[in-house]
Amino acid sequence: MPVVTDLLDLGGLRLSAGEGRTFELAAHIEPLTLGGERYAVLPAAVPVKLDVSRMVGNGYALRLRFHATVTGACMRCLKDAAPRIAVDAREVDRPGGGEQLSSPYLDDETLDLAGWARDAFALALPAQVLCREDCAGLCAECAADLNEAGPEHAHERAPDSRWAKLSELKLE
Ligand SMILES: [Zn+2]
Ligand SMILES: [Zn+2]
Repeated sequence: MPVVTDLLDLGGLRLSAGEGRTFELAAHIEPLTLGGERYAVLPAAVPVKLDVSRMVGNGYALRLRFHATVTGACMRCLKDAAPRIAVDAREVDRPGGGEQLSSPYLDDETLDLAGWARDAFALALPAQVLCREDCAGLCAECAADLNEAGPEHAHERAPDSRWAKLSELKLE
């Protein structure tokens, strides 16, 4: 198992210009708060693949790939949800190349792998964390789990005579 790497000294890799290497590392991703709920990220040590290319004329091109599972309450039915998320993120850092070519995760030649993995994971998350893509959620009226109750679950609008009478009146 690769060890958890929070910071990686790219300079220490001693890559020559134009050289690229792939590293199998592991990252710890902090829990996230989404819609006021806490979501943990598993496994505790997420195996990541990091491509590091030293650009000709200085700087680095980086690619980070991994899968991780976000666990917490389904945002529709509140049961356990644990979707697996694929992340494929790239960063370029070229000193003197202006803001667009400056990576927020590189400080000099030290890569903030933990920070990048966390942000890339958060960006890769779907808008809603669901137990399954087509989760039917809860009935708005009685909070029954519609995944179990089925599509025929419905409420008859109980005809209340008083309201029925009222609705017959023409109200200004
Ligand atoms: Zn659900
Ligand atoms: Zn209902």
